[in-house]
Amino acid sequence: MTRFSAFALVKNALTGQKGWEAQWPDSQPKQEYDVVIVGAGGHGLGAAYYLAKEHGITNVAVVEKGWLGGGNTGRNTTIIRSNYLYDESARLYDHALDLWEGLSQELNYNVMFSRRGVLMLAHNVHDVQSFQRHVHANRLNGVDNKWLTPWEAKQFCPILNIDQDARYPVLGAALQRRAGTARHDAVAWGYARGAAARGVDIIQNCPVTAIRRDASGRVAGVETGRGFIRAKKVAVSAAGHTSVVMDSAGVRLPLESFPLQALVSEPVKPCMPCVVMSNAVHAYMSQSDKGELVIGSGTDQYTSYSQRGGLPLIEHTLAAICEIFPTVTRMRMLRKWGGTVDVTPDRSAILGKTPVPGLYVNCGWGTGGFKATPGAAHVLAWTVAKDEPHPINAPFTLERFTSGRLIDEAAAAAVAH
Ligand SMILES: Cc1cc2nc3c(=O)[nH]c(=O)nc-3n(C[C@H](O)[C@H](O)[C@H](O)COP(=O)(O)OP(=O)(O)OC[C@H]3O[C@@H](n4cnc5c(N)ncnc54)[C@H](O)[C@@H]3O)c2cc1C
Repeated sequence: MTRFSAFALVKNALTGQKGWEAQWPDSQPKQEYDVVIVGAGGHGLGAAYYLAKEHGITNVAVVEKGWLGGGNTGRNTTIIRSNYLYDESARLYDHALDLWEGLSQELNYNVMFSRRGVLMLAHNVHDVQSFQRHVHANRLNGVDNKWLTPWEAKQFCPILNIDQDARYPVLGAALQRRAGTARHDAVAWGYARGAAARGVDIIQNCPVTAIRRDASGRVAGVETGRGFIRAKKVAVSAAGHTSVVMDSAGVRLPLESFPLQALVSEPVKPCMPCVVMSNAVHAYMSQSDKGELVIGSGTDQYTSYSQRGGLPLIEHTLAAICEIFPTVTRMRMLRKWGGTVDVTPDRSAILGKTPVPGLYVNCGWGTGGFKATPGAAHVLAWTVAKDEPHPINAPFTLERFTSGRLIDEAAAAAVAH
């Protein structure tokens, strides 16, 4: 596979751009694999990449019902941060952030990781107390996070409205300077290219309809729209549809699937140097490299697999955005879309082994799993390869919902983008 380099760019520029090859082959399913991964989002593709690269397991298929990256990976607003409250979360998301920083070089694929800083606004006394608690907890965990006064927040993001008579007054903000954004499609494409180059089959348009178990109860393979595929191990990374797929193996998961929406404005010149999140009103905004303002909303009130959300959510979000950034009031919105997010009761992921031997799950990322992509994929690959959790994902078990050892980021932050 051609390595991307300045030399390759110049060579192809001079030869009519004819030298670029397909980034990954469109594979046909084989009868049997060592590992089948269900879902070609960033998490599934990343796990396949690390299985091949770090554990030498290359007889792997990633089976996708639609197109690669067409799930939440290609639909999110790309916020990357690691300033979560609990030790377990801080370790996991900071592991991901460490990997983000070298990912373009690792994959030889520009994922456009931009460390532009994420500002989380506090609008009331509860927010102030909660975010200051996060700042202190993060520092104890070696995660950068800093408390800013309203004026300091405005200096960091000049279009922010800090008028104290505003509908949502800014009483301060927590800033993670190391946080930022990345190009979501490129993450899926980069991992797909890297995995395929190491021998992984990526099979698109192939829905998994059931997981089959043998007489001993161990996983035997997956039923798909293109026939049965035998597998020694199966890892399910199917986001909003995980509970349906896992149900077919007799594993019930504490997940609810909700639509989550985002939208972008017409492109404008650079005006927004960072990401701003307002958890209390469920509105957040950044600016893409194309110039569009990328705006995110909260989850719908009702469960659904529709991949489109209700209008009231968008109206509420835009009303809040106009209050917080009055300068955008007259802009036009270009398009909106939705994804189906899988939400656990404590808003933390389930990542590890299941009661079925040979079956692994990576789900429950809800509204905030893009930022975890490299870290989650990395430890999922470890777990599948060694049949034991990596120390980082050891607390993120399914059993915590019966033992009560929750990782309650829901109570900590109320939002998890
Ligand atoms: C609007 C929106 C905004 C978001 N914003 C952020 C953000 O700013 N920051 C952040 O960190 N996170 C964000 N998220 C969440 C984030 O996108 C997800 O947590 C993350 O992308 C999940 O990655 P994944 O690879 O697990 O899932 P996905 O990318 O959804 O991949 C799962 C794949 O499984 C496939 N699949 C499902 N069922 C089957 C089946 N039966 N057979 C075969 N394949 C199947 C799907 O087609 C899909 O391609 C947002 C999500 C949405 C929807």
